Amino acid sequence: MTWQTLAEARDEALGCTRCRLAGGRTQVVWMDGNPDSSLMFVGEAPGFHEDRQGLPFVGAAGQLLDTMLRSIGLDRSQCTICNVIKCRPPGNRDPMPDEIESCRPFLEAQLRFIRPRVIVTLGNFATRFILAKQVSISRVRGQRFEIELPPAQHGQEQGGQGQARGRGPLVTVIPTFHPAAVLHGGGNASPAFNALQDDFRLIASVLAEPPPAIAEEPEPEETAEQEALF
Ligand code: URA
Repeated sequence: MTWQTLAEARDEALGCTRCRLAGGRTQVVWMDGNPDSSLMFVGEAPGFHEDRQGLPFVGAAGQLLDTMLRSIGLDRSQCTICNVIKCRPPGNRDPMPDEIESCRPFLEAQLRFIRPRVIVTLGNFATRFILAKQVSISRVRGQRFEIELPPAQHGQEQGGQGQARGRGPLVTVIPTFHPAAVLHGGGNASPAFNALQDDFRLIASVLAEPPPAIAEEPEPEETAEQEALF
């Protein structure tokens, strides 16, 4: 199967039955925002309100995300917002490893076609997916990581036979706390809220930097782990 466009990937996602979550969802939650923007937020999974409305981050956590965006002069039309998995887990439980794997091609397609310059990972699941490492959000939040997205490919989605064209662009990844975790941990009276504010200031300053160059040719062992992600 080959997706030539983001719309083709979305159309398949909207009818997806690859995992058990298809049976319990109201709607697939694909993404929100502007696919031409250079900033992408990646959350964990849709919750109750997202499942009903078909849009990510429209409940209480989404309101906090909107507030944080406004605090740096942005709104949803200036970023994209999506999740590691596109269907709501029952009772908002954590996504299971096989559900994340089933959904992997869809987030990878979003990364390939949107090609953001800055990815903000919200919480453990998104951070581990994007960095391809079992890190803990409380240890890595507020740091910046430079990763290389795979180069644009012709005729290849989902590991097909397409030809890579040169090196991929560098992307800055900024992990931060999931807004729902901040709300559950005391809201705007909590140290986590202060950390979230600091991290959004970092996002604004990274966005103000000149775009990074195409990656240098690396030593093979340097990229093996990251390439395995895609
Ligand atoms: N939490 C998430 O991780 N994603 C959403 O879309 C909503 C809540």
